[in-house]
Amino acid sequence: MHQKQLSDIPVVNNKLNWQRVTKRFLAFYTFIAVILAASIYTVFKNYTNNLEKKIMLHEEVFIASTKQSLQTEIQTQLRVMEMTTKSPLFARFIEKPSQQNREHLSVLFKNLSSTFTRFNQVRLLSLDGLERIRVDYDDGQARVIPQEGLQDKQKRNYYKESKTLKVGEVFISAIELNEEHGQIEIPYKPVIRFVTLINDSHNKPAGYFVINYLATDLLNDFRAKMKLRIEGQGMLIDPQGYWISNHQRSNEWGGSLPDVEYKFEDLYPEAWETVRDNESGLFKTDKGLFRHVSIKPFGTNSISQKTKDEQKRFHILDKSKKINDWKLIIFLPNGVIEEASFFYAPAGRVILTALFVFTAAILLLLLILQEQKRRKYTYDALIKDQLTDLYENAPCGYHSLDKNGTIIKINKTELEWLGYTKEEVLGKNFASFLTPKSKETFTNFLISLKSQSKIEGVVLEIQCKQNHTFFVSTSATSISGNGHFAVARTSSFNITDRIILERKLAYIANTDELTNMSNRRHFFKRAEPEFASEKSLYLFMIDADHFKHINDQYGHDVGDNVLKMIAKTMQSSLSEAALKARLGGEEFVVLLPDVNADEAYLAAEKLRAEMENSITYLANSEQEIKITISIGVAARRYQSESIDEVLKHADEALYTAKSTGRNKVIFAKHVIEGSY
Ligand code: GH3
Ligand code: MG
Ligand code: MG
Repeated sequence: MHQKQLSDIPVVNNKLNWQRVTKRFLAFYTFIAVILAASIYTVFKNYTNNLEKKIMLHEEVFIASTKQSLQTEIQTQLRVMEMTTKSPLFARFIEKPSQQNREHLSVLFKNLSSTFTRFNQVRLLSLDGLERIRVDYDDGQARVIPQEGLQDKQKRNYYKESKTLKVGEVFISAIELNEEHGQIEIPYKPVIRFVTLINDSHNKPAGYFVINYLATDLLNDFRAKMKLRIEGQGMLIDPQGYWISNHQRSNEWGGSLPDVEYKFEDLYPEAWETVRDNESGLFKTDKGLFRHVSIKPFGTNSISQKTKDEQKRFHILDKSKKINDWKLIIFLPNGVIEEASFFYAPAGRVILTALFVFTAAILLLLLILQEQKRRKYTYDALIKDQLTDLYENAPCGYHSLDKNGTIIKINKTELEWLGYTKEEVLGKNFASFLTPKSKETFTNFLISLKSQSKIEGVVLEIQCKQNHTFFVSTSATSISGNGHFAVARTSSFNITDRIILERKLAYIANTDELTNMSNRRHFFKRAEPEFASEKSLYLFMIDADHFKHINDQYGHDVGDNVLKMIAKTMQSSLSEAALKARLGGEEFVVLLPDVNADEAYLAAEKLRAEMENSITYLANSEQEIKITISIGVAARRYQSESIDEVLKHADEALYTAKSTGRNKVIFAKHVIEGSY
C-alpha cells in the first residue's frame, strides 16, 4: 500500500480564494448582465412604444377636431363667396357703372367685410385685371377705396391664374403674405385669395370677384390650441414644406420671405418624404415621433355637404386643391417622450442601477457561499481521506466487533497480519482467528466488555492464514446501545517480539546453561505448586561421586561433558512428571510427585544404575569415562512441611550415602522408619 507522504497532503488554506471568486463573478455577471440588459431593453422598447401610443392617442381627437375646424373655416369662406356672387348688384354695376350702382355694390362689399371681419380686401376686377371696386378692412374698419386709389393687378399671380377660369369655377391661391405696392405688408398678413368669374345678365364673363381671406385669426387660433394642447410640437406646412405655422415663428413663411430659408425638409429630412407622400400616418425617426395628416381644406372629405347642383355651379380648380393641401404635423421629440418615461426619470434610473447592483451583490454572495462550501467539502474530504488512511495503515490493528464477537470492520494492517482478505474476515467471529488458548481469553474478554466500557492490554495469540501465530496486546472500548454494549472498537498491537524476548529471558533466567535443565531458582518455583497440593512428594538429592578426580584427570571441559551426560540420563530415566534440576556444581535434585516409597526407591535405584552404566567418551578417543552418583531421598511427611525441610533431610541421607561408600541410594531415616 502506498503510504502518503507529507508532501502529498494538500495544504488547505483557510483564506477564501478571492481570485477564484472574482474570476467566476466576472464570467457569470457578464452573462447575467447581458441577459438583464436585453430583458430591460425589451421591456424598455415595449414600454416606450406603449407610452408613445398613449401620448399620441391623447392627440388623436385633437388632430381630428383641428382638421375639421380648418376645413370648416375655409369652406365657410367659399359659401360666403358663393352666396355673394348671387347678388344682382354685380350685373347692375357691370352693365351700368353709375355712381349709384357703384355705391350699392360698395355697400355690399363693406357689409361683407364688417360682418365676417376676415376679409381684408373684397374687390371686383375687370376682365383685364384693373380694380373696379375695392373695400379694405383694417383695424375693424371697412373702407371703400376711392377710384383714384384703385390699382392694376394684371401682373399679379392670382390674376394670371384666374384668366383661364370658367363660369362657376373658383381659383384659390396658396396661402401667402400680403403685398402692397410690391412690398410684403408688415405686420405679416397671411392671405388666401378666392377668385371667381362674374357674368353679366347675358351670362357673359364680365369681371372677377376677389376675396382676400386673412388667415391671421385662423393661424393664431391654431397656434394657441397647439400651445395649450400638444405635448410636443404642432405645425402646419404647405405642400412645398414651408411652414404656415411653427412653434418657432422665425421658421414660418419660407415660401414668401426671401430671408427665411427653412423648409420642413431641411430640419427633418428623414421625415419629409413620408409626410409628403402619405395622407396620414405615424412614424418614428431618430429625432422622435411624427404624427401627420393632410388637411385638404377643399378635399372630398370636406364637411360641407353640397348638393349636386351646387357642386356644378361652384367648382374649385384641381391646382387650387393641390397648392392648398396643408399638412398638420405633430412632432414628439425624443426629449418629450423621455420626460414622460419611467426609464429616464431619476427614480427609474436609480431602480435600474439598483437592479444591476443588487444582482451583482446577490451573485457575489452566492459565489462566496458556494466557494466556502466547496472549500469545506474539499477540507472535509481531505480530512476523511487522511483519517481513512490513518485507520487503514496505522501501525496497529483496528477492528470493530458486535456483541457476539463478530468482526464488522477491520483495517488493512490487521488484515495483513492475518493474511486474509477483508471478505474472508468480515462477518466471522473473531474467536475463529485465535489459538485455542486465546479463545478462552477472548470469551472472558467479551464477557468483561459487557460490564466494563474499557479493557486494556489483553494478550491474545492470533492464528494466521499461513499457519503461524502472533501475539497482540488488545484494548477495547465498548459502545453502548440500549444500555448494553453493541459494538466494541478494538486496537491491537503486535507484541510477538516482546513475548519472544520475554520467553527468552525467562528461559535464560530459569535454565542451567550447561545442561539446559531447570536451575535452582526455577526448581523452587516449580516445586511451589506441588508443595501447595496434597500430593505425596519424594525428593532426591543427587551428587556425583569423586567428580573432582574427573576434572583433575581429564580437564574441566571433560567434566562439563560428564555433567551433561548426567543431566541427559536423568531426563531419560525419570518420568515426565518428575521435576528435575541442577542445583549447582555436580549436585542435582528431583521432586517426584504422586508416588509411594517403593516407587520412589525404584525410580532412584533405576537412575543410579543407569548412571553407573552410562559411558562418556573422551573427545577424539576411545577412552571411556564412567561416573557414579549418590542419592539421598526424603519424603514430605505432612502437608505443611517446607521444601527446605525436606531438602535438608534428603541432604542428610545423601551425606550418609557418601560416607557409607557412595554409588548408592539412601533414604532419610524417617522414611525408613515409616514415620510420615
Ligand atoms: P565426593 O562428592 O564424592 O565426596 O567427591 P568430590 O570430588 O565430588 O568432592 P567435591 O564435592 O568436594 O568436589 C566437587 C568438585 O566439582 C569441585 C569442583 O571443581 C568441581 N566442579 C564444580 N562445578 C563444576 C563444573 O561446573 N564443571 C566442572 N568441570 N567441575 C565442577
Ligand atoms: Mg559435591
Ligand atoms: Mg561429588
